[in-house]
Amino acid sequence: MNHSFPPVPDPLPVEAFDSHCHLDLLDVPVSEAVAAAHAVGIRRILTVGVDLASSHWAAECGQMYDDVWAAAAIHPNETRAANDVALEEVARIAGRAAVRAVGETGLDYYRDWADPADQQRSFRAHIDIAKRIDKTLVIHDREAHRDVLRILEEEGAPDRVVFHCFSGDAELAKRCADAGYVMSFAGNVTFKNAVELREAAAVAPLDLLLVETDAPFLTPMPYRGKPNAPYLAPLTLRCIAEVKEVDVAEVCAATSATGERLFGPW
Ligand SMILES: [Zn+2]
Ligand SMILES: [Zn+2]
Repeated sequence: MNHSFPPVPDPLPVEAFDSHCHLDLLDVPVSEAVAAAHAVGIRRILTVGVDLASSHWAAECGQMYDDVWAAAAIHPNETRAANDVALEEVARIAGRAAVRAVGETGLDYYRDWADPADQQRSFRAHIDIAKRIDKTLVIHDREAHRDVLRILEEEGAPDRVVFHCFSGDAELAKRCADAGYVMSFAGNVTFKNAVELREAAAVAPLDLLLVETDAPFLTPMPYRGKPNAPYLAPLTLRCIAEVKEVDVAEVCAATSATGERLFGPW
């Protein structure tokens, strides 16, 4: 990794899984990002599409690399483009063997790039695709918890659901746990002011918990603001272990097992 990246963290004692990143947006070749992740014990990576072009890219990448899996969807910020033809194309890409999830889809009320009605229509369509082809649903929920839960309930949730970059409090974590939804924590759980997020992580059952980098975004502490990549996931895994007062090896093993349950077989 080049010099603008943070230093390499200590390797993990047990292999773990980066459940969400955007390898197409990193400043380094995929082979380098994967090798750097392997060197610290991040064995597998899910790379996520946000539109048709990046979903195609993710599918190709997943096919090319044994330890990379793909997710395909139109991001809630991009739903102006989510017409019927585009959604059929999402279904086609998501049907490929290397594509293990439909996502990221959901609702983003923080950014007003897309009309909420368009976002909701697209989210419903992605839920339908995930159920039709029996793949895990990866949800982007930003300041939209109530509507995300409501729409999942109205449509009937797929069997396997992940809240990526989980951004709720302990109460939302309990509601997700009751529904069997998996919560994926990103580097922002390590931020100093993220007290509520750490309370949520403390409540999330270990078998419903994943860790992600969301690279190139959300670089964990103490490197906030620097570029992010999957090899930095150990920083977030160690934070989660501390919060849950369990051994980091246990968190790693749990994320690998949950990753395999949701996106496997490897
Ligand atoms: Zn997202
Ligand atoms: Zn993402």
